[in-house]
Amino acid sequence: CTPGGPKVREEKILVTVRMRPLNRKEQAMYDLIAWDCLDDYKIVFKNPNFERPTTSYTFDKVFNPLCSTQKVYEEGAKDVALSALTGINATIFAYGQTGSGKTFTMRGISENAVNDIYEHIKSNPERDFVLKISALEIYNETVVDLLNRESGSLRLLDDPEKGTIVEKLTEEVVKDSQHLRHLIGICEAQRQVGETSLNDNSSRSHQIIRLTIESSLRESSGRVKSFLASLNLVDLAGSERASQTNADGIRLKEGSHINRSLLTLTTVIRKLSGGKRSGHIPYRDSKLTRILQHSLGGNARTAIICTMSPALSHVEQTKNTLSFATSAK
Ligand code: ADP
Ligand code: MG
Repeated sequence: CTPGGPKVREEKILVTVRMRPLNRKEQAMYDLIAWDCLDDYKIVFKNPNFERPTTSYTFDKVFNPLCSTQKVYEEGAKDVALSALTGINATIFAYGQTGSGKTFTMRGISENAVNDIYEHIKSNPERDFVLKISALEIYNETVVDLLNRESGSLRLLDDPEKGTIVEKLTEEVVKDSQHLRHLIGICEAQRQVGETSLNDNSSRSHQIIRLTIESSLRESSGRVKSFLASLNLVDLAGSERASQTNADGIRLKEGSHINRSLLTLTTVIRKLSGGKRSGHIPYRDSKLTRILQHSLGGNARTAIICTMSPALSHVEQTKNTLSFATSAK
């Protein structure tokens, strides 16, 4: 990984791709590496068996398997995360097939973001900050509170001022960075509870950790200037749930394979990136997009980190991921 390159700070949707290393299982079955990171912006498909390099894809940034999560955060998420401290809603997604590194990446992004948020708070002692956290999981269009799983399935309500709100969702006031890490840890543990009771949970469900940041400043005139924004950290269901066909291009009969929230999200992102911010955007077609509506589009800032396996055996899914990433640009 080399530093530098064009500035991407002002992009509304920042799209980056992270390639993980071959894992042990892939190595054990002599899987081959089918992709090359040409530079910090380009990935090319090279069938290691016979073909010369062909299709190449360009993104705001490409992170090769040696890049640290710190680097992925710095160049693929930090600016977006910090904009929530200045009153701009922000959303950071990990998108990719199951096993490609979404959860691994989002954990690191959350850790880094928490550190930076508290650094910022420390270096702006003249402002008052109030941080709150809420966290939820969407599984089969059912919304569950990750800070209170016992409350069961939660309803979405339309509030004339706040937009879509999740009824009865726990919102905890965060005391300090240690408390925040502790609460994020609880959410992760709760997600694993779901894993044991519902088979294959994490590949089917979306997790949203939402930090709401309120900051106020009392000016010498006595007037209070305040900001309110949320930072959404989203670990999506496996992207294989977004495609309606299997690896051979055969349409699958089983409807449950398709994930409404993920399909709608990809449509919304495509429309937003197509410059059609004013046209009809189908936010209301899924729970995920309703909940995130005010943190996507408009003035909001979005970072999408697409995660991929380098393996030849996963090429079809990886191509789907990269074509989504291309359409999100
Ligand atoms: P996903 O959430 O997309 O299903 P995970 O994040 O659980 O995938 O990653 C699958 C496995 O690969 C995990 O064991 C994880 O630790 C490992 N892994 C993912 N990305 C990386 C990476 N960049 N470097 C090293 N190991 C990784
Ligand atoms: Mg995961």
